Amino acid sequence: MSKPIILLVEDEPAIADTLVYALGTEGFEPVWCATGADALSACGKRAPALAVLDVGLPDINGFDLFKQLRAALPELPALFLTARAGEIDRVVGLELGADDYVAKPFSPRELVARVRTILRRAQKVAAAPATASAHGFAVDDERKQIRYRGKALDLSRTEYRLLKVLIDRPGRVYTRDELMDRAWDDPASAFDRTVDAHVKMLRAKLRALAPEADPIQTHRGMGYSLREGEQ
Ligand code: CA
Repeated sequence: MSKPIILLVEDEPAIADTLVYALGTEGFEPVWCATGADALSACGKRAPALAVLDVGLPDINGFDLFKQLRAALPELPALFLTARAGEIDRVVGLELGADDYVAKPFSPRELVARVRTILRRAQKVAAAPATASAHGFAVDDERKQIRYRGKALDLSRTEYRLLKVLIDRPGRVYTRDELMDRAWDDPASAFDRTVDAHVKMLRAKLRALAPEADPIQTHRGMGYSLREGEQ
């Protein structure tokens, strides 16, 4: 397994040196940048597992840099290095979604321990099977909710079941009969066109969230599938 890359953005070389050494000896691959601009370009080359961000940087403050990094890497965990009490208040108060902070001066050993904790937590979240997701969809079966590209769809019971069948097997073509069997309480009372009407409604709701997307594919004379490779 390759070492987790830790992006370290800190303009004071003495602090950076200590941290690069501490992270390196503890099994991480530190990438040191002294400015926000360097950090953004380093991030574009190889995605870090976590960012350690000094709040006071020469070209940008750590909070704004974090927002920009998150725009490119939405899941990126971060730990702030703060020099003043006022900065700690901001880390807490801004609700940036940062994972932790340490106040200067700090022990490198403590910082490495925090990094480890955050990464463990992030891995747990990533592995949690609470929602099944595919192709931009996230299904929350307990709440009977489906989110598309992060936004909740307002679905009827039948629409929910119909869409879930498609999401569970992207690329699999379902005939109207199969869809009816799986998504309707009483398939015998449903007509073929009912499936079409529901798919049409689903498409309209998906388009309302993402106008350019068309994740449900029609197979003439056969049925429907969830388009593969759709994000
Ligand atoms: Ca600084």
